[in-house]
Amino acid sequence: MATLRLEIVTAERTVFADDVSEVVAWGVEGQLGILPHHAPLMTMLQPGDLLIKKDDEEHYLAISGGFLEVRPDKVIILADACERAEEIDVERAEAARHRAEEILKTRPPEMDTAAAEAALRRSLARIKVAERRRRKKGI
Ligand code: ATP
Repeated sequence: MATLRLEIVTAERTVFADDVSEVVAWGVEGQLGILPHHAPLMTMLQPGDLLIKKDDEEHYLAISGGFLEVRPDKVIILADACERAEEIDVERAEAARHRAEEILKTRPPEMDTAAAEAALRRSLARIKVAERRRRKKGI
């Protein structure tokens, strides 16, 4: 099976580096599937879930935005933050979601609602990825 090299890095660490068969990410213009031999491309990513297909298995990660670049030899994702499903602290994500929803509901003048919207999207992506793993494991 043809594969592509995928590297996901943040300022702090390499989250993922392996050969995979497909990557599906949320670009700013919508969902984007990258298969081996995809044409060179550069796009910004929005917060969301990232699907990696490898050896007939599907892995989901939460990504908080960043850049995706398809190069001839590899796909690189420079992420603001990125967590594997098993790394996600669901209580923390629920608390972040609650804080963001409160700001968006009450709209206090001193608070940045665009930042709250972004925080809400990050928290929802984390919750979605963690819940999917929980359902898959039957817990
Ligand atoms: P919070 O308000 O809970 O800090 P945030 O969305 O503002 O959430 P980020 O700024 O996106 O957090 O991330 C800061 C760091 O914390 C990153 O390393 C990120 O991977 C990690 N992180 C954030 N939320 C979680 C979570 N729910 N579970 C595990 N790691 C998280």
